[in-house]
Amino acid sequence: MAVTEEARTKLYTCAFCPNICRPSYPAQDPVQIESQTPSALCLLTIAVLKKQLPHDDATNSVLSRRAAAIASRGHCVYGMDIPALLDDVLAATEA
Ligand code: SF4
Repeated sequence: MAVTEEARTKLYTCAFCPNICRPSYPAQDPVQIESQTPSALCLLTIAVLKKQLPHDDATNSVLSRRAAAIASRGHCVYGMDIPALLDDVLAATEA
């Protein structure tokens, strides 16, 4: 299954978005960690697609830190469901 252009566009949109959904992350939670924001996870997934980063267990471990992405559901200004997008793209990308 190939990654669609629509999915790629969504990844880039989120990767370069200034985390407008950030107020949805609980202030005291570790989801404020920058490397775990939806934007960071999308940027890492783009690196996997471009084969700049291996799609291995270490990468999957980083990409599984979804607390902020899950918190963003319903708060994305573009109406995107980032956890579902990441799941779809990674499933279509060979490990
Ligand atoms: S989930 Fe939506 S609002 Fe949040 S960083 Fe990504 S594109 Fe921006």
